[in-house]
Amino acid sequence: MSDKIRNKSALTVNSGIDQPPSINEPAAVIFRNKRGKKLTVADYMNGILNHDISILSQAITLVESALPLHQKIAREITGQCLPHSGNSVRVGITGVPGVGKSTFIETLGLSLIRNGHRLAVLAIDPSSELSKGSILGDKTRMESLSAESNAYIRPSPSAGSLGGVARKTRESIILCEAAGFDTIFVETVGVGQSETAVHSMTDFFLLLMLAGAGDELQGIKRGIMEMADLVVINKAEDDNKKNAERARTEYLNALHLFPPPASGFIPKVLTCSARNNTGINEIWTYITDYIDYTKNNGHFLRNRSEQSRYWMIESINESLQGHFYNNLKIKEKIARYEKMVLDGSVSSFIAAGLLLNEYFNSKNQEGS
Ligand code: GDP
Repeated sequence: MSDKIRNKSALTVNSGIDQPPSINEPAAVIFRNKRGKKLTVADYMNGILNHDISILSQAITLVESALPLHQKIAREITGQCLPHSGNSVRVGITGVPGVGKSTFIETLGLSLIRNGHRLAVLAIDPSSELSKGSILGDKTRMESLSAESNAYIRPSPSAGSLGGVARKTRESIILCEAAGFDTIFVETVGVGQSETAVHSMTDFFLLLMLAGAGDELQGIKRGIMEMADLVVINKAEDDNKKNAERARTEYLNALHLFPPPASGFIPKVLTCSARNNTGINEIWTYITDYIDYTKNNGHFLRNRSEQSRYWMIESINESLQGHFYNNLKIKEKIARYEKMVLDGSVSSFIAAGLLLNEYFNSKNQEGS
């Protein structure tokens, strides 16, 4: 790729826009246009609908921000994007670190773009919550893909509860779709609960695995296998090809033990080499076959509706939690109760009950 094209690209991995260091710290900016005028919701909408990647990035930063003013604007933008969203194929991709997720996404992504698609890659990285570090974000990833003007790569929202991070990614999907991306990849690390979150916002869930790691499922829990619409054994090349075939049969046998999926489409196991670009087209064909099949049998829309319901409940839960923990009275008391629970002087249930009473009383006082 020439420098000229690279420079013209709307995109680098963290293109143009600084992410707030943590969503718990105020993002310093409300974005302004070139003349220094603050962007209005109409400006954002205009930019998004005209495929302006820089405006899209800024809007996603608002979605990710914890500041009430940003959240208010973000809600308006998301609401206005909704009628323009939904027209994409949403694919969740998971696998343990090192399995080849970024290489796979880059290889498949470049092929999709060559075929006229516009691809957004979002990520949910739960490691930031646990270790304050990031598994997905610390390396320079998908360099060729990120230089493409029809690709948009957004790192995981940083810090915050998994529920909060996932809700932001879900809203970002809506914004990306309104900005004309017809294919959305949501990537996550196969180390925790984040798979469930990604599964609940995508149409198709792909699990990347490696051969030769023995019978045990490489730390991938049974539940994650059960969610997969397709298992792919990566690095199936050269000497590893035989191992990959063997692993394919093993995983296929493991999949057969699960009850048939709600989609009606029996999951398969395929092999590929993301590095050598072999087996990748077959995987995409399988995904599009799945989408066609589930659109025909009604599962696709049913699943999306069910996901919307789930996210309504999740948003309520997240909002209630935020209110509770930000309540001044609760902030004052919670550390004391935590200590008492730790030293055994009060049970966890009683402490929770007392704190909830405190919260509801303070709400009642506000209301009277
Ligand atoms: P991620 O952590 O899951 O995103 O994995 P990466 O895409 O960063 O890949 C981890 C390592 O595996 C890198 O050194 C890649 O070059 C290598 N890799 C990825 N795909 C393949 C493949 O198909 N074959 C081989 N031999 N190596 C691969």
